[in-house]
Amino acid sequence: MNELFSQALPVLKEIEANGYEAYFVGGCVRDYYLSREINDIDIAVSATPEEIKQIFKKTIDVGIEHGTILVLHEKGQFEMTTFRTESTYSDSRRPDKVTFVRSLEEDLKRRDFTMNAMALSSSYELTDLFGGREDLQKKEIKTVGLPMERFEEDALRMLRAVRFVSQLDFSIENHTFEAIRVYARRLSRVATERIAAELEKLINGPAMERALRYVIETNLHAYLPVLITEKVVKSLGEIDWKVLNAGERLALIIAIGEFDDVKTLLKQWKMSNKTIKKQLSLSDLLTIRAGRAFTKADIYHMGIEPVTSAEKIAAVLNQRPYDAQYMEDLYHSMRIKSRSDLAFKGTHLIKWTGKKGGPWVKDCTSVIEQLILDEELENNLSDIKEWVESEWLQK
Ligand code: ATP
Ligand code: MG
Repeated sequence: MNELFSQALPVLKEIEANGYEAYFVGGCVRDYYLSREINDIDIAVSATPEEIKQIFKKTIDVGIEHGTILVLHEKGQFEMTTFRTESTYSDSRRPDKVTFVRSLEEDLKRRDFTMNAMALSSSYELTDLFGGREDLQKKEIKTVGLPMERFEEDALRMLRAVRFVSQLDFSIENHTFEAIRVYARRLSRVATERIAAELEKLINGPAMERALRYVIETNLHAYLPVLITEKVVKSLGEIDWKVLNAGERLALIIAIGEFDDVKTLLKQWKMSNKTIKKQLSLSDLLTIRAGRAFTKADIYHMGIEPVTSAEKIAAVLNQRPYDAQYMEDLYHSMRIKSRSDLAFKGTHLIKWTGKKGGPWVKDCTSVIEQLILDEELENNLSDIKEWVESEWLQK
C-alpha cells in the first residue's frame, strides 16, 4: 500500500463513519496502477464543505464555491472536493457553474480521460466505470464519453491528452485523436495561462518528442503561440535531448526554432519574468558558444549554472558529448567566482588613487577582475594596490 494513501485512510474512514462516501480519485489512482510515484492525492467526497466542517475540528476553506476544503488532521493535511459536475467552459477558463451531486458516478463522468476517472475506496475497492484500467494496460489515452463533446466543453483537454503522452509514453486512442484534429482550432479560445501550465509538463516529460509529434499531427501547434514547429520536432528526432532538464529543453527548442524575438515569444506564452530572464540569458550564452568556448569570465559574469546549462545544450545541438570535466576544471580553477570574492572594494580604489568616485571605479574594477581571472594578478589587497598604483594611475 502506498504511504500517502495510508496516511489519508483514517480521514476517509472518519468521513464514512459519518454516513458519507469518500474515495481517492484522479491522477493518484492512475499512478497507483501504473506503479508510478504518487505526488499528491485527490480525495472526492459526497459531503459538502459545510458537512466536512461538522466532522473535523480543523479545516481551511480553500475553494468552498468549487467544493474544495482542506482538512488538517494529525496524519497530515488533506484536500478534498465534493462530488460535482461542471457545466461548459464558455470562456475556456473555468466552468460556468459547478453543481454538487451526491453520486460518485456523476463526478467521475465529468473527468477528462478514462485513466483519470477511476476511484479507489478506503477498502481498496476500485470503481472503474469507463474502462480506465484496460486503457492503462493498452497504454491509451481516451476520453470519458464522446471525445468531440468533451473537447467542446473544454478545449484544454486536447492539450492535456498530449501532455499525458509525454508523461506516460502512451498513445492517443483513435477517436480521441481524430476529434483533436477536428477541434484543434478551439484551443485558441483557451486562456494562455492554462495552456502554458500543460506545456510545461509536456516539455518536462520523458516522452516529450512523441508528444510534440502528436501536437504537429493533430495540428494543435497552429493554434498555440509559436514555439512548436515541424522543424523543431524533426530536429528533436535526431538529437539526444533527454539529458536536458525542462528549462534547458525549452532553450533547446528556442535555439532550434531560431526565433528572432525570444522575449516577445515568451511573453506571448505568458511565461513568468523569471523564466523569461533565464531563457534570454541561455539564448545569449548559446550565441556566444556558437563562436567560441566558454571562459572563466563567462562563468564569473553569468554564473556557473546557466553556463553549464548552455554548454549542455550546445553539446546536444551539435551532437557531441558534454564534457563535464572541462566545465568542472574551469570552475574550480577560478581564483574568484563572483564579485563578492574580490579582495578589494571601490572605496579602496578611491583611497589609493586619491580620486573622486565616478564611472572609472567600475571600469577599473572590471580590468582587475579580468586580470585575476586570467591569472595575471593575485586576488590580494597588496598586489591589487600595487597594480593600481603602478599600472592604472600611470595610464
Ligand atoms: P498530475 O499527476 O500531473 O497532477 P492529474 O491527473 O492529477 O495529473 P490534474 O491536472 O492534477 O491531473 O487533475 C486532477 C484530476 O482532475 C484529473 O485526474 C482529472 O480526473 C480531473 N481533471 C483535471 N482537469 C480536467 C479537465 N480540464 N477536464 C476534466 N477533468 C479534469
Ligand atoms: Mg494532480
